[in-house]
Amino acid sequence: MRTLIADIVKHEGKEVELMGWVDVRRDHGKIIFIDLRDRSGIAQIVFAGKEMYAACDKLRPEWVVKISGKVAKRPASMVNPNLPTGEYEVQATALEVFTEAQTPPIDVTSDGREIGEENRMKYRYLDLRRARMQKNLRARSKTLAFVDEYFKKHDFVEVETPILGKSTPEGARDYLVPSRLYPGKFYALPQAPQQYKQLLMVAGLERYFQIARCFRDEDTRGDRQPEFTQIDFEMSFVEREDVMNYLESFIVELVKNVYPEKHITAVPFPRLNHAEAMKKYKSDKPDLRKDKNDANELSLTWIVDFPFYEYDENTKAWDFGHNPFSMPEGGNLPDSEEDLSGVKAMQYDLILNGFEIAGGSIRNHKPELLKKAFELLGYKNNVIMDKFGHMIEAFSYGVPPHGGAAVGFDRLMMLLLNEPNIREVIAFTKTGDGRDLMSNAPSEVDEKQLKELHIKISK
Ligand code: ASP
Repeated sequence: MRTLIADIVKHEGKEVELMGWVDVRRDHGKIIFIDLRDRSGIAQIVFAGKEMYAACDKLRPEWVVKISGKVAKRPASMVNPNLPTGEYEVQATALEVFTEAQTPPIDVTSDGREIGEENRMKYRYLDLRRARMQKNLRARSKTLAFVDEYFKKHDFVEVETPILGKSTPEGARDYLVPSRLYPGKFYALPQAPQQYKQLLMVAGLERYFQIARCFRDEDTRGDRQPEFTQIDFEMSFVEREDVMNYLESFIVELVKNVYPEKHITAVPFPRLNHAEAMKKYKSDKPDLRKDKNDANELSLTWIVDFPFYEYDENTKAWDFGHNPFSMPEGGNLPDSEEDLSGVKAMQYDLILNGFEIAGGSIRNHKPELLKKAFELLGYKNNVIMDKFGHMIEAFSYGVPPHGGAAVGFDRLMMLLLNEPNIREVIAFTKTGDGRDLMSNAPSEVDEKQLKELHIKISK
């Protein structure tokens, strides 16, 4: 029966059977030492004696093997204090090779920071073998488990919303999926489950959450990817304070339970209004840590009172400052375009160490006011009804006041794990310019596929 490497410490003097990868191999003439690696850790294996030496001689790093042997205490001078199994070694009595391995194109035993990112992405399945990436993926999974438990404990219902949806003019550029059955028509991948979660409030769920994948066709940066994960939630019969308090308690509890080594600079999180932040810090994402050299300090700050509309100097036009579905402060909008600059949104963003890690708002649940929010930007009635008619109609059948938020989960993990970018906390990620170097996506497709989708490529 297999024993996990971390457990050898419980089996001194016993025979064990270990399975894993050859991490490193050190040949000392008549003795070969192998560091064997499995998901639980690393152990030193000793191959001594003519027969075992010969059996082991051909082993190379990254071969996958089964080793039988006896657990023994190492002599005091040989103890490795840096290894949890460092007081022990396994004296091999049998070796079985499951698979051999070519020399890996990248070193998987280091922390990987010295390796060019293109190579790490291309051989991601090897890159993920390194201890740092294993640790990050495990921390991510553990954090998700906490999220799941926390939201369900507070009576939130997890609902999966569609990936194939409708293209709507909000925020970023959509990823489009051509329809085979309806020539010339397209689905859009969701930038966020915003509309669905609001419709779930119309449906009477009252509390929804989802670990949601979102897609935005934007130029990527260190803290952005074409697809990313949000902890998305929505609540009915709430005011701004209720949602902010819920999110704040969630973050505090998450840190306390899963990252106890971290400390939050100030609880309750300080609040700044948008104008104040811009004036004082020239940023709507100020980093208010007391000591920026402290890897374990988490400084959380709320930014509130965002401008509802913003003037875009490039297009010389007004646009939504944030989420178009937000309620304007005071529950009203001016009657003419001239007065847009003073309107504030019931929007709140949460900043962690200078990064926006969450954002949300109390929603505009009044059908006429929602229409007006778009009309003031010059949207024609037929466009509004085509894009948002279903929302406006839904709100005419009895909608509770509601609000919610979404936490950028990859960014949160990046900051909790002190990583420099979100690619270090996502298993299979794209490069800064949106390519998957491992599978080589995006890629060309067959002529037949294009034809079925009624698509002609103009070269
Ligand atoms: N849907 C918003 C976003 O993705 C978050 C929210 O308002 O709930 O930024």
